[in-house]
Amino acid sequence: MPKSKSLKPNSDILSGELFKEYKTVAYMMEIYCKNHHVREGTEALCLQCQELLTYAEVRLDRCPYGQKKPTCNRCPIHCYKPQPKADMKLVMRYAGPRMLVPHPILAIRHLIHERRPVPDAKPAANQSNRHLRTKK
Ligand code: SF4
Ligand SMILES: [Zn+2]
Repeated sequence: MPKSKSLKPNSDILSGELFKEYKTVAYMMEIYCKNHHVREGTEALCLQCQELLTYAEVRLDRCPYGQKKPTCNRCPIHCYKPQPKADMKLVMRYAGPRMLVPHPILAIRHLIHERRPVPDAKPAANQSNRHLRTKK
């Protein structure tokens, strides 16, 4: 079986803290996918995981907290639909503890963010990445 290539997370729409969070999610999905799913050829993610990662990217883009977002598992809004929410929970639970060795900086950043206080369920208006990037 050919060795799969390493994931190189990239986004045309996210920047700053949102892109760091996207990268964290992407690497977690890579760890999860490698140990649970069958991937096409040398792809880093199976189709199902690629779709979930694209869904997460859109959620990050539209997140009403924008660059100041909490970690999704502590979010009072939780904007995910039930199925992707359940799928992502499995990914996080499995890959979270396995992130420290391959991606220590992102793993520690994530742990620090998880300790932040839970934010107000009514974030300030017009903070989303999508709003800010489309009004330019
Ligand atoms: S609204 Fe909450 S669950 Fe949705 S992306 Fe923002 S922090 Fe995550
Ligand atoms: Zn997968």
